[in-house]
Amino acid sequence: MRYKGLLLDIDNTLYGYDSTHKIAKNSVLDYCNSKFNLTNTSIEEAYDIARKKVHIELSETASSHNRLLYIQKMLEHLNINPLEHTLDIYNIYWDTFLENMKPFDGVYELLEMYKGKICLVTDLTAHIQHRKVQKLELDRYCTKIVTSEESGREKPHPYMFMSALGKLDLKAKDVCMIGDSLKKDIVGASSLNIKSIWLNSDKKIENYDNTLVQEVKTFNEILELV
Ligand SMILES: [Mg+2]
Repeated sequence: MRYKGLLLDIDNTLYGYDSTHKIAKNSVLDYCNSKFNLTNTSIEEAYDIARKKVHIELSETASSHNRLLYIQKMLEHLNINPLEHTLDIYNIYWDTFLENMKPFDGVYELLEMYKGKICLVTDLTAHIQHRKVQKLELDRYCTKIVTSEESGREKPHPYMFMSALGKLDLKAKDVCMIGDSLKKDIVGASSLNIKSIWLNSDKKIENYDNTLVQEVKTFNEILELV
């Protein structure tokens, strides 16, 4: 083991976010189609408007807002009683999402290797991140988490990473951050001189400081670097 501990992103790092989101979104579209007789386009447009509204109205706060708000405002926009349907749609989305998360090959080998020495560092709201933790059984390996909701800030803000170091009682030089987002995970870690591994599954071409950052295309490659 090269490090005393790991800082670990969850979404799109431990499982594929986009494919899971697509399945969950389709289950919501199917439900709205049959329940309200609306086309996919009109539902998606309303959702997009709702999302933008929430971002504008809550621009002062961390920007990963609860999907419940998006759904409520989408229904308001469609003139459908939000009090009657918001929770149902929210639950359809997340129940489907959680059922369909597929951890990448190598995830549990890494978790086993660093058992008890991992802090999850994650944006999005605490409640749903805790549900993902339980579903993926991350609690068997990890004992610490920092969410953007508890921090009032999102990655790449250094506070998230400092807080994770504090919870692990380790220094920047002792840990490695692993994440899929160059802008959030890697830039945030680099700003505190924390080494990182960028899981670049989409094979994007980007510039970064390669004294601090190593790039991999698949999760399995991480096992050889830690
Ligand atoms: Mg991520």
